[in-house]
Amino acid sequence: MKAVNFPGKGQVEFCDLPDPEPGSGEVVIRVRASGLCHTDIEIMRGNYGTSAFPVVPGHEFAGEIVGIGPEVSGLNLGDCVVVDPNFECGTCQACRRGWAHLCNSLGAYGVTVNGGFAEMCTVRAGAVYPIGNMGFSLAALAEPMGCVLNGLSPLAGRVIERAVIFGAGPMGLLMGLALRNRGTDEVIVIDIDERRLQFAGNSGLTPLLAGPDTDDKLRQACDLSVDATGVPAVAASLVDFITNGGAALFFGVCPQDARISISPFEVFRRQLSLFGTHSLNHNIPDALDTLRAAGKAAERVVTHLLPLKDVSEIISGQVPRGSMKVQVTI
Ligand SMILES: [Zn+2]
Ligand SMILES: [Zn+2]
Repeated sequence: MKAVNFPGKGQVEFCDLPDPEPGSGEVVIRVRASGLCHTDIEIMRGNYGTSAFPVVPGHEFAGEIVGIGPEVSGLNLGDCVVVDPNFECGTCQACRRGWAHLCNSLGAYGVTVNGGFAEMCTVRAGAVYPIGNMGFSLAALAEPMGCVLNGLSPLAGRVIERAVIFGAGPMGLLMGLALRNRGTDEVIVIDIDERRLQFAGNSGLTPLLAGPDTDDKLRQACDLSVDATGVPAVAASLVDFITNGGAALFFGVCPQDARISISPFEVFRRQLSLFGTHSLNHNIPDALDTLRAAGKAAERVVTHLLPLKDVSEIISGQVPRGSMKVQVTI
């Protein structure tokens, strides 16, 4: 089969690999849609803690079951499914608390073992979720949407009438759609890229151009502020925009060595809540429900459907101009 492969740190190749065979408890997926994520580039550069080489990247993928190993029940050849890429040890303290995504030795398809930038991929039967009549491209957004919902999970029960998201990229947009679905009246999205802002506006979010005027308008005026840029200066400013009793969510991936300064007195006096979030926690069914509810607005987040071969070039070069989520279609 054809595959994109990272043979070693900083290397990408488009190559032939042996067709995968399903082991006990495993199925083989014929990949039909597979999303490109900034994490893939970090994995290739060797900047992602738990990655291993060689590895076929791709952790956001959906497809059809074309092989079933022994000891698998409840799945049939031809089933259309999406993959939950994470697999945890099951025994560390985090796992025993139900926080699989915070496992000390978390593994993932496309990170620590071969993933979805290939014509086929072997996964554990427990990692697949039926998608019914949902398209493969929309279903392949379940992993990033799962990350969004995991980020919002500690905010359950909070009143969020107005939220601001910094960064109108694919993750910022999915965050916006999830907040709208949660009942947030106004979701403001801030970016420096006018084309991305237009995209956000077309998706039912309120776009605002980054700058001093926007900062003044929103100062201490939002129940929730979210960083979806990974820019430390943006992360440092999140508390400026939240109301008394509000929350800030560190969702973007900042450089590991970045440091920001926050006033502990302000966190105390205005009773602010600061949240972090990492990955998804086996919440693919909720993610599929949210994508279904968002419908066309979620489908539009995928702007580019490309052949597998092009992905190896994009990972080592430039993402297409004006792109939001780029997916491989096979
Ligand atoms: Zn991703
Ligand atoms: Zn564990």
